[in-house]
Amino acid sequence: MSVLLNQTHDPSRRSWVPSANFDGTEFPIQNLPFGVVRQADRIFCGVAIGESILDVSKCISAFDGIARDAAYACDNSSLNKLMALGNASVSALRARLVELLTEGNATGQNTLQSALSAAADCCILSPVRIAGYTDFFASIHHATNAGSLFRPDAPLLPNYKHVPIGYNGRANSVRVSGVPVTRPHGQTKAAQEPLPSFGPAMRLDYEVELGAYIGSPSVAGDPVQLRHAWDHIFGFSLLNDWSARDIQAWEYQPLGPFLAKTFATSVSPWIVTAEALAPFRTPAFARPTDDPSPLEYLSDDADRLEGGLKVTLEAFVRTRAMRETGAAPFHLSSSDASDLYWTFGQMVTHHTSNGSSLDTGDLIGSGTVSGAGDNALGSLLEITKGGSRPLHLPTGEIRTWLEDGDEITLRGHCARPGFRSIGFGSCTATIAPANRT
Ligand code: CA
Repeated sequence: MSVLLNQTHDPSRRSWVPSANFDGTEFPIQNLPFGVVRQADRIFCGVAIGESILDVSKCISAFDGIARDAAYACDNSSLNKLMALGNASVSALRARLVELLTEGNATGQNTLQSALSAAADCCILSPVRIAGYTDFFASIHHATNAGSLFRPDAPLLPNYKHVPIGYNGRANSVRVSGVPVTRPHGQTKAAQEPLPSFGPAMRLDYEVELGAYIGSPSVAGDPVQLRHAWDHIFGFSLLNDWSARDIQAWEYQPLGPFLAKTFATSVSPWIVTAEALAPFRTPAFARPTDDPSPLEYLSDDADRLEGGLKVTLEAFVRTRAMRETGAAPFHLSSSDASDLYWTFGQMVTHHTSNGSSLDTGDLIGSGTVSGAGDNALGSLLEITKGGSRPLHLPTGEIRTWLEDGDEITLRGHCARPGFRSIGFGSCTATIAPANRT
């Protein structure tokens, strides 16, 4: 059994919160994700359990030691203070919460019942004050698919299998699920035009990603060793890296993405802790034998053995017409984070390898998660082959890129025989028309 597993992952454990035991719930007692919640005039860090939310800092007396410090930190309008305490404290809080919420624990029920609210009565806010935002490019399938549109003979650049590539985005582009995304303006140049022009982006796209949040910070000048990388990861959420492909195509050479990416990044509101994901850790990507081995600082036995994450990520689109007719969202893709070529540990280690540090609240995106099949493509860029193969929706509508009123929803879930399945909730946003200039 993995050393990462403990009694909080026991699949037979049930809660006295009835909805936590429902079949298919994303938030059973084995998950307990953290988020920031407003209820009436109170804002607090809460824990989702079934269809309820626990206001942790309302029941401080139930906790001791470092779990008590962590519970105190939940009396806040962001998770940053809790995250900064580090994973030992978060784990102690989780262990005690699991104990108190377990079916049959009458003391727990008496103590916690009054701190529970129905999720339907709460407003879920942005969970984290984002310190810095870096987006990687860790899916070799996505890198190959995207590269083949530009360089059919050599889709992957020579550095791809040696260095986890990323770019530094804008922390202030990150907003929580539900906030509309305004179509950006930008400079673009059509292939047949001699000169660029400025106006609303016409090739608006989404990217299915997983985001990791840094809890315990690292020290400048002291790179994080790969075997310690997960000590710095508080948890994960779904992430949609909205992308304006026409702005990107014109601006990204030679320096990479700039304004094509900084107008909006959506995240799901509940952060699933690294500990809750322990049952779904999996071996790192199996590199073909003729691929280069990672350099020593990116190589570690434990990371090879269980540095990957088995998280299924799905994307759906719902157009305005689909909403108006009550049609179900259209399933765009189903991909899996276990197909990422680089692990999150390798991303953290590489990020700090030059002596730069990671701060509490830093967000690290995986890059678009795509897989090998046609059903596992995490962006319209890949689904429509750069816009050349339009997508036909059940309503008769056609999409090459997103139109105003389109709503994209990401979902994520983890399942493994012998363990309770958990989910991430959803990350949804609708495209609002470009502002007038
Ligand atoms: Ca991206």
